[in-house]
Amino acid sequence: MSATLTLPQTPLWIDGAAVPATSGQSLTVSSSATEDLIAELGVAGKDDVDRAVAAARKAFGRWATTPAGKRTRILNKAADLIRARAGELAELESRNNGKPVAHCKGEILSGAEVFEFFAGAATKITGETVPAIMPGTLSLTVKEPIGVCAQIIPWNYPFMMASWKLAPALAAGCCIVLKPSELTPLTAMKLAEILAEAGLPAGVLNVVHGPGETVGNWLVTHPGVDKVAFTGGTETGRAIMAAAAGRLKRLTLELGGKSPSVVFADVDVEAVAAASVHAIFYSAGQSCEARSRILVEQSVHDRFVEAFVAKAGKLVVGDPTQEVTHVGSLISAEHLAKVDGFVQRAVAAGVTVALGGKRAEAHAKGHFYLPTVLTGVTPEHEVFKQEVFGPVVTITPFASEAEALKLANGTDYGLFASVWTRDLARGLRMAQGISSGGVGINQPFTAFSGLPFGGTKQSGLGRELSVRSLDAYLEEKAIMANTTDKVFNPFGL
Ligand code: NDP
Repeated sequence: MSATLTLPQTPLWIDGAAVPATSGQSLTVSSSATEDLIAELGVAGKDDVDRAVAAARKAFGRWATTPAGKRTRILNKAADLIRARAGELAELESRNNGKPVAHCKGEILSGAEVFEFFAGAATKITGETVPAIMPGTLSLTVKEPIGVCAQIIPWNYPFMMASWKLAPALAAGCCIVLKPSELTPLTAMKLAEILAEAGLPAGVLNVVHGPGETVGNWLVTHPGVDKVAFTGGTETGRAIMAAAAGRLKRLTLELGGKSPSVVFADVDVEAVAAASVHAIFYSAGQSCEARSRILVEQSVHDRFVEAFVAKAGKLVVGDPTQEVTHVGSLISAEHLAKVDGFVQRAVAAGVTVALGGKRAEAHAKGHFYLPTVLTGVTPEHEVFKQEVFGPVVTITPFASEAEALKLANGTDYGLFASVWTRDLARGLRMAQGISSGGVGINQPFTAFSGLPFGGTKQSGLGRELSVRSLDAYLEEKAIMANTTDKVFNPFGL
């Protein structure tokens, strides 16, 4: 008997029920931190994807016309259930993706907040009236849900990304087929169960599993899918955009980043170093908005490097079940090799490793990489320009505000940026000058319900998390009405 037969089964979720994949194919899901196999995943075949899309299409008519207040109550109930089960969900997430369990719990609770936020927003979807084009007319707009959405999410924040995608789509009245990453599919299934328990009608949400190249691509190109919402790598985003173009699908893309943190000399260097350690090493650097390029004013550069290295050196790397752990496992051996490849090429190009620079050898199992600080990095280095998506930060000095701005804008990405200065006018000037979807001034955080989150340049299309991000799931329709008893006769016939 194969060892995998004893693993807990993770089926698909179609039309309100857990169902086995008809493809007969399966994948194993492992714990990143221990490499233990923890689940067997049913891989959707084309028929399963067709069934999931058909269930969503069938549910759409009723869900789109469900009173907004009822959608609000369901989403609020889901938020309550998420909060009640946050501990259990966090343990599952952490066991799968190797992140510290305390961090997973924070992410699960922030998922609950996103459901609450969009629960409130569901009843605020409004159109407008526009000035009459001629006497005896009334012109107005209404907003209608787009239809069936394919939502494809990555492995770095599995539950939170599912929440960011599902909550606005459900609030808007769309139906969904969600595809989690095959590496981290477990909490998305729990979320489907929670939403069903909260009263979400069958078919409104469906979850299919399997590789992006097949299952993801079938969804993106499926004639029954009206919109694709994707979070992941920029290359994959480009492929999805091209594949979705065939049927002009509506698209939101939240992609990669190489976000700068600009530190001016007038700050409390120790305090900003501590905040900057969080801004890169949370989630082991596997965050699209990780501030992976620190730009420091020349006069405090050495002091900042010293403080930053001292603080980053205190980070506890290892067992994600322990409360004290700051940095857990990377997602996979392949990803660790990719991260290490960036570091070794940087070293070969003359960059200095001020901290880390290799896998954490204390851990024979799992994919632990030491927090790594690279100095002497210039804009020409690959590691300055390309997304590493791991616990690796570069530190580069600048001589003037103009140079800081040039360096900050010196990559193809534009997701987020941090600026640290006591001079508020300068902070705001930098915020105006940096091309990115968001800028944090004197604080390390990046995303909250209510503030739009998303990128410029190669970091993506569209925004998430704000009230207006609901528009990404709505079509605006113009209605022009004749308010008289007579029919207009423009040709005078
Ligand atoms: P991908 O962008 O390839 O994967 C993200 C999601 O897209 C997964 O669910 C994946 O499925 C799916 N997918 C992959 N290919 C396709 C496709 N052709 N059509 C439809 N769906 C698809 O991320 P990777 O895991 O390969 O990571 C590569 C790099 O991307 C990372 O090193 C990092 O730089 C960046 N990244 C950025 C993220 C962000 O938050 N912006 C998140 C994750 C990665 P599956 O994995 O199941 O095959």
